[in-house]
Amino acid sequence: MNQHVTLDKIVALCKRKGFVFPAADIYGGINGIYDFGHLGSLMKDNLKNLWKKSVQNDRGEIYFIDGSLIGPQAMWHASGHIENFHDPMIDCMNCKKRFRTDDDNIDINKPCPACGIQKWTDIRDFNLMFQTQLGALADDASKAYLRPETAQTIFVQFKNIMSTNRAKLPFGIAQIGKAFRNEITPKQFLFRMREFEQMEMEWFCKAENSMNQFDYWLQKRKEFYQAIGINMNKIRMYEHPQEKLSHYSKKTVDFEYEFPFGFKELEGVAHRTNFDLSQHSKHSGKDLAVFDQATNTSEIPTVIETSVGVERLFLTLLFDAYCEDEMDGDTRVVLKLHPHIAPIKAAVFPLIKKLSEPAEKLYQQLKATFTHIDFDEKGSIGKRYRRQDEIGTPVCITYDFESLENNTVTVRDRDTGTQDRIAIDNVEQYIADKIQ
Ligand code: ATP
Repeated sequence: MNQHVTLDKIVALCKRKGFVFPAADIYGGINGIYDFGHLGSLMKDNLKNLWKKSVQNDRGEIYFIDGSLIGPQAMWHASGHIENFHDPMIDCMNCKKRFRTDDDNIDINKPCPACGIQKWTDIRDFNLMFQTQLGALADDASKAYLRPETAQTIFVQFKNIMSTNRAKLPFGIAQIGKAFRNEITPKQFLFRMREFEQMEMEWFCKAENSMNQFDYWLQKRKEFYQAIGINMNKIRMYEHPQEKLSHYSKKTVDFEYEFPFGFKELEGVAHRTNFDLSQHSKHSGKDLAVFDQATNTSEIPTVIETSVGVERLFLTLLFDAYCEDEMDGDTRVVLKLHPHIAPIKAAVFPLIKKLSEPAEKLYQQLKATFTHIDFDEKGSIGKRYRRQDEIGTPVCITYDFESLENNTVTVRDRDTGTQDRIAIDNVEQYIADKIQ
C-alpha cells in the first residue's frame, strides 16, 4: 500500500493541475458531478482507447454503438429498473442528513454519525433513476428516464446491430457513454458520482457454453489491468454470493481495488442469462431470438457483461500511480502512470530562455508526431521536471548549449530521474520506445 496517498491529496492534485474540477465550480459545485480539464480529458481518452482495444478478442467480433441517453418508461419497466433499481435510504430526523442503510458506516441501532442523536426515519427505497418528461404534456406516456447504465441501449438495439452487421454468435456489442444515477450519498470524489461514463461490453452467446465464456472474459479483463500497469497486489476478485445476486444475474464477479478507503468494486463481470433480451422481447412484442441453421433451432442469446466506470478507473489509476519520493535532495510528487495513460507524452525545455527558438523547433517537430507534448521555459530546470512529474509525463528533453554545438539533447526518465544525452535525430524514436 502506498502510504503517502490520500483522497485529499488526489483531489487537490486534480484541481491544481487541471485534471478535474467540480462542475459549475464558480457556483459552488454540484455534489457528485465533475468536469474534466485538459489533462483529465486527455487521460480519459487514453483510457477509453485502451479499453476499446482490450475488448477485441479471438472468439468473435465486437461492434461499437453510441446509444441515446434518454429511454422511454416502457424500456425501463422491461429491464426491471423502475421496480428494482433502488437503494435503501434513511434520514436522521434531527440533522436531516440522508444515508444509505447498506453503507458500511451506517448502523441504525446506533446514533447518527453526523450529529450523534439516534432519531431515524423508517427505511425507504429510493429509485436512483433521474426521471424526465418528453414534450409539454405531463402524462404517463411522456415519462422518460436518463439511462442508469449503458447496457440497456445495447439490448434494445440488439436485433438491428446483429442484422446490419450480419453478425454471428458469439459476438459482442460495446459502448462507452454517460450513465446517470441519483446516488443518495455521492462520495469519495470520482468513486461514486451522479453523472459518469461507463465502458460496457455485452457478449452474446449460446447458453450451453456460457460459463466458459464467462471465465474467458474474466481472464481478459484481468489481462487488461495487468497491461495498463495496475499493481495487481491491490486487485482482488470478489464473487457475489447467490443470495446477493442482482435480479438478472446467474453469476457476478467484481474486480475490487484496494483504495485508501478499503477494497471496493472497480469493474463487474456478470452472467446476465437471457434476462434482458427476454424481457425486451416480451414487453416490445419483437422476437429477439436467433435462429441457428445448423441445428434448426432458435434461442434468445445469453449475455456476459463486463462493465467498468471510466472515472472510477481514472481514480484508481491516480491512486495507483501517486508517489512521493526523494530526488536530487527534494521531495517530489510523481504520477507513475503507464505511458499509454499519461496525458502528456513528453516535455521540451530550453535550458535558458536564449535557447527557446531551437528548442521550440524541436517541440513543434515532436508535436507533429506525438500531439500531446509540452513546452516549458519558465523557472529552474528542477522546477520544470517537478511540474511534469506531477502529471506523469514519461520523458523530459532539455535543449542546452551543447545542443547548439553537436545536435544532442538530454533526455530524462520520469521514474528513475536518469539522464542520457542522445542525438536530436534519435529523440523521436526514443519517445516512441518509451511510450509504446
Ligand atoms: P456500486 O456497488 O459501487 O454502487 P454497482 O454494483 O451499482 O456499483 P454496476 O451497476 O455494476 O455498479 O456498474 C458497473 C460499473 O460502473 C461499476 O463497477 C463502476 O465502475 C461504475 N459505477 C457504477 N456506479 C457508479 C457511480 N455512481 N459513480 C462512478 N462509477 C460508477
